[in-house]
Amino acid sequence: MPAELQGVGVSAGVAVGPVALVGGEVPVPPEGGEVADPAAEARAIVQALEAVAADLEERGRAAGGEAQAVLEAQAMMARDPGLAEQAERLARGGRTAARAVYEAFGVYRKLLGGAGDYMAARVADLDDIRDRTVARLLGVPMPGVPDPGHPFVLVARDLAPADTATLRRDRVLALITEEGGPTSHTAILAKSMGVPAVVACAGATGLAEGVRVLVDGGAGQVVVEPDQARLDAAETRAAARQAARAAFVGLGRTSDGHHVGLLANVGGPGDVEAAVAAGAEGVGLFRSEFLFLDRADPPPVAEQAAAYRAVFEAFPGGKVVVRTLDAGADKPLAFLDLGDEPNPALGVRGLRAVRRRPELLSGQLDAIAQAAAGSPAEVWVMAPMVATAEEASWFCAQLRDRPVAKAGVMIEIPAAALMAEAVLAEADFASLGTNDLAQYLFAADRLVGALAALQSPWQPALLKLVAATAEAGLALGKPVGVCGEAAGDPVLALVLVGLGVTSLSMAPPSVGDVRMLLGRHSVDDCRRLAELALAAPDAATARARVRGATPVLGELGL
Ligand code: PEP
Ligand code: MG
Repeated sequence: MPAELQGVGVSAGVAVGPVALVGGEVPVPPEGGEVADPAAEARAIVQALEAVAADLEERGRAAGGEAQAVLEAQAMMARDPGLAEQAERLARGGRTAARAVYEAFGVYRKLLGGAGDYMAARVADLDDIRDRTVARLLGVPMPGVPDPGHPFVLVARDLAPADTATLRRDRVLALITEEGGPTSHTAILAKSMGVPAVVACAGATGLAEGVRVLVDGGAGQVVVEPDQARLDAAETRAAARQAARAAFVGLGRTSDGHHVGLLANVGGPGDVEAAVAAGAEGVGLFRSEFLFLDRADPPPVAEQAAAYRAVFEAFPGGKVVVRTLDAGADKPLAFLDLGDEPNPALGVRGLRAVRRRPELLSGQLDAIAQAAAGSPAEVWVMAPMVATAEEASWFCAQLRDRPVAKAGVMIEIPAAALMAEAVLAEADFASLGTNDLAQYLFAADRLVGALAALQSPWQPALLKLVAATAEAGLALGKPVGVCGEAAGDPVLALVLVGLGVTSLSMAPPSVGDVRMLLGRHSVDDCRRLAELALAAPDAATARARVRGATPVLGELGL
């Protein structure tokens, strides 16, 4: 009987391949140690830093786009002359090259950590350069993603954005992480790549390099050295899923014909091709802040308008929902100084930030209006992080004289969900951001993997807020969609439809499975599944009961 590991499936599908492990932790170089030639140690430091910088640039060139800018900025940090000088001085004082680098980075780390949130966020980049340089000097494996030269199943403790920026999509068959949760970077990435993924998988990092594993991203299972019977069963399921997906094309509909809009989440024009290829009916969440990140100044109105227009033009006759700038907390902007906040996630972020800087919002709304005029798409605009009916009313008033079809709000703060009727009375529509809604409902930071269980979108408490918001929408005759990660889980999507949401917006590769599963269930089926989930005492039970009541999943490998 092959060994099995159990985790949480966050991206459905089945894959088989050899394990490639992300390099483990680089050891802290010990204090003391024999140094025969301090000058040689100092020279080794300069060479190691240069090699690390050159490697980062090389990876940047290979990745292109936004990843290239991030990696080039990191290479510049590695070439900082002050940093090299500090390390060389320590080496000439008798430290080993590795120890000198370690200590010199420690000094810089403190400086950055104390220099406000934006700089503090760069500490992780600095640590990465330190680890790469120390690994080179100690001759131990580099941290980060391996490249064994053939397709592989990537196994890691957890994946950082910098690890994943350079992942070659034609090489990665599946992702497994020992930590992480359903809204983790790994989960979001796996869904956007369309590869199976299992997170919170105890024992994963103990898998041997090169061992063959079967990854079932629906059931959250990893089978080590699968026997022929397991492989045959997996192949049958993959073929059944493929055939089932091919049978459902066009608009999202339940088996009894109820239309549910299936839309894509995009970050800019670069994501549009995948959304169109997946058959998305439009865009349910355009994360416009991606146009603003890593900029010294806000992009000019004309530049913004061109980006919006490129997305609108890809969906003639469809709708595109632009979310206005969601800055602050985990999305710091260089030109938006929000001061020192002890709890940025609870601070001046989202709509609150642009109310303090109204020119940022009005510039963005002008750009959207320019692009919307004469656009073939129906343009909707919504605000992030709305807490009260007054905020909803203020935001929608900004759009009153602009040529957009609907003005709405995101519901991602529990207070707004609890007051959904009052909030929706001020807006034309609402879109539930279940990622932040879970974070604020459970007081569980979405960036902390150890709190993954609390952030599960299967939490019945979260589903109750979804139900309350959908009910308010129904009462007022206004659309209520979901655009958080929850919408891209095909089984949870059934539950959300059963709770009354009118559209689902997700990473493009999820659209096919959601459309297919929806097409195999009636509205009444969805309502029954929603009742099962709402009545469960916790997320794991809700998920298990709903999956248990959806027998087709096993057959399809979902
Ligand atoms: C959300 O919070 O669920 C959401 C969709 O917005 P973001 O993930 O961009 O915060
Ligand atoms: Mg959000």
